[in-house]
Amino acid sequence: MSTLTVSVVTPDGPVLEDTYQMVSCKAESGELGILPGHIPLVAPLTISGVRLKGENNSDLIAVNGGFLEVRPDKVTILAESAERPSDIDVERARRAKERAERRLQSQQDDVDFKRAELALKRALNRLDLQKGQ
Ligand code: ATP
Repeated sequence: MSTLTVSVVTPDGPVLEDTYQMVSCKAESGELGILPGHIPLVAPLTISGVRLKGENNSDLIAVNGGFLEVRPDKVTILAESAERPSDIDVERARRAKERAERRLQSQQDDVDFKRAELALKRALNRLDLQKGQ
């Protein structure tokens, strides 16, 4: 059975490297399912979960943007941040969610709404992934 080596790397260092048979992720252009032998591709990723499935292993990673690089036998994900569900601090994500929601609801002119929206997406993504585990 052919496999894919998957590496997830962030500015803080490597988060994961293992072999799998399928990678499912959400690129800006839509959902992607990558199997071994896929044509080379580079795609920007959304704030979302990446699912990795192997014969006897599976993993889920919360990624914050970045890029997916696909080669026939290797997938590299370079993300601003990436966490396994077990590394997600739920309280921290809840606080980040509440902070972002407060900013989005505030009427003040000095609120950077785009920034708050992205912070909310990151927090919701972490909470979703942690719950789904
Ligand atoms: P916060 O406001 O809580 O810092 P954030 O979404 O702004 O959240 P990021 O800038 O995406 O945080 O990430 C900064 C670093 O903190 C990254 O290394 C990321 O993996 C880590 N991180 C952020 N939130 C969490 C969390 N809830 N659990 C574990 N690690 C986290």
